[in-house]
Amino acid sequence: MSPIQSKVSNHFSLNISINNSVDCLVYTGGICATNGYLLKAAEGSILFDAPEGILEWLIKEGIDPELLMLTHQHFDHVMAAAEVSAHFDCPIWAFAEYDTSLTLESLFHDAGGPAINVKPYQIDRVITETKKDEDLHVSGMPVHISHVPGHSPDSICFYFERAKALFGGDVLFQMSVGRTDFPNGDMDLLVDGIRKKIFPLDDQVTVFPGHGPETTIGFEKSNNPFLTSS
Ligand SMILES: [Zn+2]
Repeated sequence: MSPIQSKVSNHFSLNISINNSVDCLVYTGGICATNGYLLKAAEGSILFDAPEGILEWLIKEGIDPELLMLTHQHFDHVMAAAEVSAHFDCPIWAFAEYDTSLTLESLFHDAGGPAINVKPYQIDRVITETKKDEDLHVSGMPVHISHVPGHSPDSICFYFERAKALFGGDVLFQMSVGRTDFPNGDMDLLVDGIRKKIFPLDDQVTVFPGHGPETTIGFEKSNNPFLTSS
């Protein structure tokens, strides 16, 4: 197994509320170089995903998240979920309950592959897709949730309309999309979901993915080889 590498690759700010910009940090860590994003809002910080090593990073940065939201539950995105939740006493929200088939632990176990052991955690609130013109409010910020399965059945994207920012997990990457060769993976479903739910957002929307650098919807519409052909 390759050594765990982690780095803080970016620090940016987003205009999420009317006269208030929110500080954001991205942490990258674990064997899959998975991104976890932190939004430091006035009413409390929100963490998107919990890659391995993020607890130590949060402690070092002096950040005390009040909520952990999961884009999906593949092991590399939830490796530190239990310890973050316990350390900060912060709830975890996700599209589905914890399940070893969602984390892929059962797949690796059955296939005799490398042992992946996620410390079990509890989902405190199962969240669903929000309807058009309806948002979920977290730390005083309105966020729109889209369910985009195909990479994982529980994949959701978090869209902050005012900031034109999408925390998309492993749905859409710069010049790529999430892999669909795991059980319940479905490339047609993934591409269809991106076209119907993500591409209608503004071209200027920045996509912050679960792996790799950020991109924009406009750039991916023109350049993403999985999505340019009709
Ligand atoms: Zn994934």
